[in-house]
Amino acid sequence: MDIFNFDVITLFPKAFELINNSGVITRALDKNLIDVNLHDLREYGEGSYRQVDDKPYGGGAGMVLKPEPIYKAYESIKKLNKSRTLLMTPQGKVLKQKDLVRWSTLDQIIIICGQYEGFDERIRFLADEEISIGDYVLSGGEIPAISIINGLTRLLPGTLGDPDSLLDESHNSSLLEYPHYTRPLIFKDMKVPDILVSGNHEEIKSWRRQKSVERTLERRSDLISNEDLKKSPQSKNTIKESSQFMKVRIKNEQDNYPDW
Ligand code: SAH
Repeated sequence: MDIFNFDVITLFPKAFELINNSGVITRALDKNLIDVNLHDLREYGEGSYRQVDDKPYGGGAGMVLKPEPIYKAYESIKKLNKSRTLLMTPQGKVLKQKDLVRWSTLDQIIIICGQYEGFDERIRFLADEEISIGDYVLSGGEIPAISIINGLTRLLPGTLGDPDSLLDESHNSSLLEYPHYTRPLIFKDMKVPDILVSGNHEEIKSWRRQKSVERTLERRSDLISNEDLKKSPQSKNTIKESSQFMKVRIKNEQDNYPDW
């Protein structure tokens, strides 16, 4: 299998030390399944100060990344056959699991990380896609880039110990994953559901499916609101019953926030 190449243009290459520190990704690096090439934007900066940013035209707060260093860094990267360039920006399309799956068959992903107040608008022309990792603003594109490298790498064949663990997980279909338990059978008076120790694989499968639907309705009904799933008899029942589950809190106080 060909090696998957990530080429990242960043002002903070050190931030990427984190990726070689986490089981699955370290294994992928060791097994030569991925290569992460960091392109230090500073090296492409201008003048003796290696300037990469400047004040915004028209005034206003903060500094903006200049176009020339990013274009130079971009042009220095050898483009492979199946390559895609992603620009990290909170104004982009919000990242979904299906994007990671779609990109996982490429040879190369080039990621451009912004910093400060953002980047010169002309940098957008380099990107095939603009990606946000959520509706919040971070100080740089490094954490979004690491999220993409991490999420994509674990989809590559040979990366995960057990490839089956990719099949059921949340966001693969429009459903969240069912609850998991491991030993001990009873912990602080909380008991593992009997069905999971029944040995009846058909019933376990159907229980898990049911829990997936319930859990998705409780927490993320937006994921399935338009899906055929609602039409299946099993799901209809679950929807009826779900009003009682709706009261279950996800424990992040999400429903205490005001609507902005
Ligand atoms: N002023 C800009 C935000 C700048 S944040 C605006 O309002 O759009 C600085 C950089 O961090 C961005 O250029 C981007 O590369 C990165 N960044 C911040 N939040 C992000 C998010 N949610 N998703 C992806 N990249 C993000």
